[in-house]
Amino acid sequence: MSNILEYQKLDIELNKLKKSNLNSAEKNNMNKLKGYIVDAHDKGMNLENNAKSLLEDYENLKNQYNINFKKVQNLISKDLNQIKLDEIDELLSTINALSSELFLLERNINIIITKIKNSLKDFEITKNNIIKARTKYNEFKNSYEKGLKDIEPKIKMIESKMKELEKTIEPNLLSKYKSIKADKIFPVYVSFDNGHCSGCRVEIPTARVNKLKQEGTIVCEQCHRIIYLK
Ligand SMILES: [Zn+2]
Repeated sequence: MSNILEYQKLDIELNKLKKSNLNSAEKNNMNKLKGYIVDAHDKGMNLENNAKSLLEDYENLKNQYNINFKKVQNLISKDLNQIKLDEIDELLSTINALSSELFLLERNINIIITKIKNSLKDFEITKNNIIKARTKYNEFKNSYEKGLKDIEPKIKMIESKMKELEKTIEPNLLSKYKSIKADKIFPVYVSFDNGHCSGCRVEIPTARVNKLKQEGTIVCEQCHRIIYLK
């Protein structure tokens, strides 16, 4: 009985060591940065696609602009002597319409150029942030791995102590301990504390207390831990 309690004590220590490493600040920061890098990467891809479609829009507007510009040039270069008087009004109004279209196209082209510039700037910022985040991630990773190296010998020592102790524990007791622990009930052994299970604080009825006194241990009906008398 005292050996299995000693065994559990080592087991708790082992758990703490493993947990401390898993929950370390480095590990948390690594996960956060990983999330950030994935998000930033997606953002970069979106910006790249955005820039591509803006460039397409730009090309289309530019083509339209050139077509209209040529039309205006042709109209202006017409020999006025060849034009009948009643056609002049129509010609002028066509030139006017095309000119104002050109003006609008030019304005839209400028808007798109500004958008492309902003998109490229955003892309550059995102790229730099990813590089910075990667560097930080590697710093945390190195520090995490160093921490792991520090606790590894401690974990090995406890594990070998537990292996030694296992030889002195009754096999039935040990397998029961392991199966309860496998059900995520840990610690497996808890003390009887002033009429209560010290694992879940439930009050133990008198008949069960008597059984505990006779047999040395009982299983808590609420939390399924093994209660022992101190
Ligand atoms: Zn309990």
